[in-house]
Amino acid sequence: MAEEAKETTSVNAADIKELPAVASNFYFWCAKCVGDRYHKVLAHPTKSSAKLECEVCGKKSTFRLVLSGTKKKVTRTRKKAKSPEEVWNELKDKTDISQVEPYSMKKKFNAEMAIDHPKFGLGVITEANGVAINVTFQDGERSLVHNRQ
Ligand SMILES: [Zn+2]
Repeated sequence: MAEEAKETTSVNAADIKELPAVASNFYFWCAKCVGDRYHKVLAHPTKSSAKLECEVCGKKSTFRLVLSGTKKKVTRTRKKAKSPEEVWNELKDKTDISQVEPYSMKKKFNAEMAIDHPKFGLGVITEANGVAINVTFQDGERSLVHNRQ
């Protein structure tokens, strides 16, 4: 078979819109021969890939169609960030809000207590240390002082 081009140009996979048929010959890059070689198409493992075998060295490689125009797969691991209000609602469900303490910086609070803040409203304390509490309010988390003598 005569070489048509002096310079072997690599097959541009993006230009190929259809998989080569099984058992047909497909001119494709061989990593072992380090050149474009005829490959036997062995199978189509997926709708967009073909298993190839180099006719020269026998190396098997996979050709994948570049599916242009198709939408990229949406990753299922999409983590939806919870809004402050969702977090607040969840905390409210877990907390006994029948016992709401009015907030005062002079009082000492503990985690998991519900407080009523004159400005921010109902909040749930997620963390408490000697001087500060982290409180989740409907519009977000705030750090407040407490236990101030
Ligand atoms: Zn090869």
